[in-house]
Amino acid sequence: MTFAVHGLPVARGIAIGRAVLVVSSRIDVAHYFIKPEEIDTEIGRVRSARNAVAEELVKLQASVALMGPKDAPHELSALLEVHQMLLQDEALSEGVKHWITERLYNAEWALTTQLEIIARQFDEMEDEYLRERKADLEQVVERLLHRMKGTAAVLAPKPPRRKRAAEAEDDEDVTVSDGIDVPLVLIAHDLSPADMLQFKKSVFAGFVTDVGGRTSHTAIVARSMDIPAVVGARSASQLVRQDDWVIIDGDAGVVIVDPSPIILAEYGFKQRQGDLERGRLSRLRHKPAVTLDGERVDLLANIEMPEDTLNAVKAGAVGVGLFRSEFLFMGRESQRLSRLPDEEEQYQAYKRAVEGMQGMPVTIRTIDVGADKPLDGKSASKQEHLNPALGLRAIRWSLADPAMFLTQLRAILRAAAHGEIHLLIPMLAHASEIRQTLSLIDFARAELDNRGVVYGHVKLGAMIEIPAAALTLKTFLKYFDFLSIGTNDLIQYTLAIDRADEAVAHLYDPAHPAVLRLVADTIAECRRQGKGVSVCGEMAGDPQFTRLLLGMGLRSFSMHPSQILTVKQEVLRADTNKLVPWAQQVLEADDPAVLLAR
Ligand code: PEP
Ligand code: MG
Repeated sequence: MTFAVHGLPVARGIAIGRAVLVVSSRIDVAHYFIKPEEIDTEIGRVRSARNAVAEELVKLQASVALMGPKDAPHELSALLEVHQMLLQDEALSEGVKHWITERLYNAEWALTTQLEIIARQFDEMEDEYLRERKADLEQVVERLLHRMKGTAAVLAPKPPRRKRAAEAEDDEDVTVSDGIDVPLVLIAHDLSPADMLQFKKSVFAGFVTDVGGRTSHTAIVARSMDIPAVVGARSASQLVRQDDWVIIDGDAGVVIVDPSPIILAEYGFKQRQGDLERGRLSRLRHKPAVTLDGERVDLLANIEMPEDTLNAVKAGAVGVGLFRSEFLFMGRESQRLSRLPDEEEQYQAYKRAVEGMQGMPVTIRTIDVGADKPLDGKSASKQEHLNPALGLRAIRWSLADPAMFLTQLRAILRAAAHGEIHLLIPMLAHASEIRQTLSLIDFARAELDNRGVVYGHVKLGAMIEIPAAALTLKTFLKYFDFLSIGTNDLIQYTLAIDRADEAVAHLYDPAHPAVLRLVADTIAECRRQGKGVSVCGEMAGDPQFTRLLLGMGLRSFSMHPSQILTVKQEVLRADTNKLVPWAQQVLEADDPAVLLAR
């Protein structure tokens, strides 16, 4: 039966595919695709784990038999028998085999997928005793997962990536999937940004999560993947079943489950229209971004990994305006890497980004973990702190761990010997933080001098993403060469709206007069003082705001590569002479959204 689930649209386009439900198990498991030649090994891993757990249960049963009824009641022995039965259950083993052979899931992923399917069958049982066996099945699977820990042959996801039609024409070096023929869409309750990073290299044609806001970091990574995505879809992961056909409408924020042939045909048509539109836009790639009245506008790229520079260059970016360096630090546990990347590893990564941009500038933001970007794979909701967005995050984190911060600073300074790097500091609010940061940068230089290591000059910038910073611009401009406005956080902190919370997403308003006032004043003050200013929050990539930002005097926009051409189209149609007075009107309006919509 066809039904729809509504959420928040975060990445444009239509995806049609079979649902892959990623369940959150009590044990963190890696999700990656294996190569067809690894199928037997992967099935073997499950078999060995099953034999080992069976032996473990036999031993437990034997020791229970030796105990008296006081220490080991009869129920315990009966329970162990149930566990043995569940372990040997064909539905479990055959299902796991199916996911490994047909979908090329790694063994852990196959196990948790099959667990989810059987668990739902248990949930639907009338008999209470049988229903409660679900917990036993979960325990059995957890035993298996524990046994399998450390036996994985490959941990990094290496699936072939599926191309979009518009990409296909000029991109011959990307292989199209040779193992999986059906398009797959990912449905999960929650995905951490680190999980998203893993999936970034995968075959998924779209994403849906139950939680998250439009500018949550999970949504940002989904957007950077340029595939349709819907977040905040509340109960999608409960309603959709493994392998259901699903349509993701990333423009409307709707997920249609089990669509009828008529609906499928309609969305198939929309999908083709979208591909055509992208093809049309791609012709703007090499056109300089200049307004009708001759104002040059820099369209820069936001990236998460050095390899993203490839897409940035392809999209016609004139530099990187925001390299979210924290992504180098995240999700390392599941790849069995050291907890933090050392100076050399970071230096190599920054150097790759600089080289990838072929002489264009690269703005590297120092680590911004915390809030909805935990270092390990745990989702934000599993964090211990009550208000993580107001806690130890970004520069606060760095200043609390100077050794880690100095390592990153040295790596960035060294990479600056290979090209133009702008060093950007996130979440500053206090003059004391600014001074501390600058003295650590001096200290990092002195350390490199002492070691006799070559390094380059960097321009220094600060992010304006806390209202306190936007209200004390003169202090910031005394110390920094440029400012970059992080509207995602500026909106969150100005309006007291958690950007990752779908329950208040309707109040997360980029067009709120207070937000627009802070953005406009920051741009104006930088221009007055002849300092560089850009916007690198999601607002910069939203074509609804291009004209307004141009009217405020902005000439540098940083966004995901996939958004550059749409924004460029707006720039090419704009006349800043007309936009300046209009932007003043918008700024003075009680309800700017009304004027923006016209
Ligand atoms: C922002 O806050 O606007 C920003 C660009 O930084 P992030 O989204 O990584 O917090
Ligand atoms: Mg921010």
